Amino acid sequence: MDSESIHRTFMATFAHPDDESFGTAGTFAALTKTGARLVLVCATRGEVGEIADPALATSETLAAVRERELRCSAEAIGADPPILLGYRDSGMAGTTDNEHEDAFAVAAPDEVTRQLVRLIREHKPDVLITFDPSGGYGHPDHLAAHRAATRAYRDAGNPECFPEQLAALEPHAPNLLLYMAIRRTQLRALAEKMDAAGVPMGLIENLDEIGTPDEHVHIELDISETYDAKLASLNCHATQLPEQSPWRMLRPEDLREILPRESFTQAHPPPDRYQSGTPAEIFLKR
Ligand SMILES: [Zn+2]
Repeated sequence: MDSESIHRTFMATFAHPDDESFGTAGTFAALTKTGARLVLVCATRGEVGEIADPALATSETLAAVRERELRCSAEAIGADPPILLGYRDSGMAGTTDNEHEDAFAVAAPDEVTRQLVRLIREHKPDVLITFDPSGGYGHPDHLAAHRAATRAYRDAGNPECFPEQLAALEPHAPNLLLYMAIRRTQLRALAEKMDAAGVPMGLIENLDEIGTPDEHVHIELDISETYDAKLASLNCHATQLPEQSPWRMLRPEDLREILPRESFTQAHPPPDRYQSGTPAEIFLKR
């Protein structure tokens, strides 16, 4: 990343309402607080996610409820009203929801990329953010978002890609492609605290397959100044917060040890160094 650049518009492409919370909400809140614009793109309305409390939603109302939760979170972090691509949540790998005709994971990759390229050309982000190649933990929708956003980052500036859009729009190439990185060491710390609280998450046994190895983290951000906004974003997603979720189970002081750091992999251009600091220091400096 060019240390002279000032990034003003950020676009984040995720799959479900709440994907923007745990790994990026503090960074996003810090950026919008300093005047940056954040465009949140969400592929689905999370229609087959869990329902933490039957008083909050039914399987029929979940999509509408989660859309409201996403709007609540977007407001908490100062984003524009979210843009929904209208696909259906594909559910966890191996479930029948994977095969639904509207499932995001089986959508034609060209169509998804076309939509993202159009949004990039419309909103002209300096920075594009999405999942890393692991999709965090391999959710098929996270992988689909990763693939389409990575391709759209490459294609949006190329006039030969989706030329039919160019009657109304200019090609636009963002400067920077970032992947949300959830550090394995951060997940381990979370898992150990949950074990100590008597609610094993089964995370520790799977740490070879989930989370981002520390050597893939290029940017480490201190988001303590926007910690409250991050908590507010997490709490917007009430249907995804069962009694035994870490945000409900852990003591505030334990959460404060884990949550106020967010990390990214710099996917493009190749990073020339490791960077750490506040979001404003890293992304908005002159
Ligand atoms: Zn998700």
